[in-house]
Amino acid sequence: MSNAPYLHGHFVDGRSVEGTSGRLHDIYNPTTGAVQGQVALAAKTEVERAITSAQKAFPAWSRVNPQRRARVMFKFKELVEKDMDNLAKMLSAEHGKILPDARGDVQRGLEVVEFACGIPHLQKGEYTEAAGPGIDVYSMRQPLGVVAGITPFNFPAMIPMWMFGVAIACGNTFINKPSEKDPSVPMRLAELMMEAGAPEGVLNVVNGDKEAVDTLIEDPRVKALSFVGSSDIANYIYANGAAHGKRVQAFGGAKNHMVILPDADMDNVVNQLVGSAYGSAGERCMATPVAVPVGDDTAERLIEMMRPRVESLSIGPSMSEESDLGPLVSGPHRDRVADYIQMAVDEGQELIVDGRDFKMQGYENGFFMGGTLLDKAKPGHKSYDEEIFGPVLQIVRAANFDEAVALPSDHQYGNGVAIFTRNGSAAREFAQRVNVGMVGVNVPIPVPVAYHTFGGWKRSGFGDTNQHGPEGVKFWTKVKTITQKWPEDVQGSEFVIPTMD
Ligand code: NAD
Repeated sequence: MSNAPYLHGHFVDGRSVEGTSGRLHDIYNPTTGAVQGQVALAAKTEVERAITSAQKAFPAWSRVNPQRRARVMFKFKELVEKDMDNLAKMLSAEHGKILPDARGDVQRGLEVVEFACGIPHLQKGEYTEAAGPGIDVYSMRQPLGVVAGITPFNFPAMIPMWMFGVAIACGNTFINKPSEKDPSVPMRLAELMMEAGAPEGVLNVVNGDKEAVDTLIEDPRVKALSFVGSSDIANYIYANGAAHGKRVQAFGGAKNHMVILPDADMDNVVNQLVGSAYGSAGERCMATPVAVPVGDDTAERLIEMMRPRVESLSIGPSMSEESDLGPLVSGPHRDRVADYIQMAVDEGQELIVDGRDFKMQGYENGFFMGGTLLDKAKPGHKSYDEEIFGPVLQIVRAANFDEAVALPSDHQYGNGVAIFTRNGSAAREFAQRVNVGMVGVNVPIPVPVAYHTFGGWKRSGFGDTNQHGPEGVKFWTKVKTITQKWPEDVQGSEFVIPTMD
């Protein structure tokens, strides 16, 4: 990516178009703290134009046979793989995550595209022969029409691909409204989709804010909305989308716990926890911002081993290959994280490592922050009850196994949780009892593979159908069931089956 300032409009009808609203949003480089580009924020009429484009493309695209749709996905996968370095650099320059993380972001999205290449098989209906006398029953999964995805800043490649990868393969036409903080990768993905052979209008991108989102919610031509972002907005989109008669899935914030039983391999725990709490500066919905050691001995051992690791985290510019983490996405977000740390201290938590004063040499205006470790957080502390979304790990001590199950179960968020132990029956009981959508056993970030399904519970997920996997195909299609009976003997018809008498 060149250093020249750039301006993104939208991607409609198979090409980039200028924004006409006159409203622009600055795109920062989190490493330097400088504005590197701008993105147009769509007015209602511009979003409507994208919807019209998608609507025009739908009849033909939905009639393309599934194996041909799969071929477009295969080609798209190949093109994204070829463009990996470029995409990763773009992503890292706008988001701030280090290059290996940026490549991982693209790769995890590609895995959903790979899954979607199996659409001829995945979209097959069911058939019951002779359900009644001369009666057969069969079902088909048909696409919904024009559908939309509203995506967050923290996975600008993976999350759009989670959504449009499956939706487009199913025969829908799609509008992506990406985060205004890092729109370059979603725009580039749309170009690559056209290059892969998707007809104009099959994938559109409108950049924008609430005005664009509200247009997508209110326009009756949009049949379904998929959202990933913070919980208040997820709730807003779920409630308003449903009130406008749409199918909606909306995934929100998270506060994932890692439960550590006394028998766990502590070297492994610490290695995993450093990566899952501080990697990507904690800006992952499946990060581990809470550790729950069971028993004070386990807590003391954990702190003793974590302290030097947190103090020596390697922090560097986002283009770095070797660092553990880069900067946070924006100045206001970094300040918000710092405020939460102060809140935790005021609430009585013990500050073991304080990352607030970290300055990145040579990048003093970048949005950097060191790792922070806090002990003795408790339910009822606002800093524990809410999502911080930064490089901050809070320790909540549990006296016993039941308390360790209750902590993540009673928390308002229920995205992911992990347990580290050598005891199979304890792990099994934990997985069964815990009130959280995705569980890791000795796996810190239990993001399911593409052919399973991703989705949290409670305020982490509104709606009842998950992302990707068979649930994704269900979300992006509707079932039609046909009950058929053919007359055996139609008098006077030339189609009568000849008989012997
Ligand atoms: P966000 O909620 O600020 O923004 C998400 C999207 O909503 C963006 O496209 C944004 O432009 C749009 N938006 C923002 N304000 C809006 C409004 N008032 N009305 C309508 N639309 C609006 O989230 P973010 O900061 O981009 O992403 C971080 C959040 O996303 C964190 O809370 C994180 O936990 C969550 N997240 C959740 C998952 C999951 O699967 N559960 C995955 C990734 C991120």
